Amino acid sequence: MFYEKLNNIYRNTDCSKLFPETLVHNLELFVKNSLNAGYSFINPYRFAFEFNLSTRDSLKFFMYFTDTDGIFNISLFIECSTPACVSQQIFINNQLLQEEGVDHILFCQECDKDYEIEEIFPYIKTYFTLNPDADKLLHKENNDPNSTYETFKGLPDNLKPLSPSSLASIDGGAPTLEEVIESNVNAAGEPISSEVARIEATISPTSKLTQLIKGRGLK
Ligand SMILES: [Zn+2]
Repeated sequence: MFYEKLNNIYRNTDCSKLFPETLVHNLELFVKNSLNAGYSFINPYRFAFEFNLSTRDSLKFFMYFTDTDGIFNISLFIECSTPACVSQQIFINNQLLQEEGVDHILFCQECDKDYEIEEIFPYIKTYFTLNPDADKLLHKENNDPNSTYETFKGLPDNLKPLSPSSLASIDGGAPTLEEVIESNVNAAGEPISSEVARIEATISPTSKLTQLIKGRGLK
């Protein structure tokens, strides 16, 4: 079921022109292994490392699965620049930002420092998580009593092998939103993930879409 969903996305987009079908199997395995190991973040850097892709290609491949009918949600965050708050992640509610009249200001709850989103754009990082529908699909598929996925899910956090933050440090951290946006281009030069395109249009100070809307062209 889960593989069919991945393969449908692969076959119904130009993903099949850019990447071999074996990568779809690899992605299924990678997502299941990540969850089995207790990670809630699916790291495209680690996917690149395991399957010999450039990070750009790995991100591009992830873009095809990061949309309304995809399997990934993308979370945005920054790390507070106050030295005492160095590991403090401030998450950005990008749904909220897309509403009119909402201030594009972030606050660090630890030190009260505020940040203007457009100004800190290059420092915004991303996490990929499984969306609720994909998660349900995997759960349905997991009636196998030998599956370790359910076993790990039931464990308290401190008994899981590694926390997401230690995963991030092992794998060279989380991709920046700029890297993600750069990779979100298909063979025809169009955005792959409309969700990422929406985020770009909402918060990127040099948004190509915004420029296009304003008639300034793409380049
Ligand atoms: Zn802070």
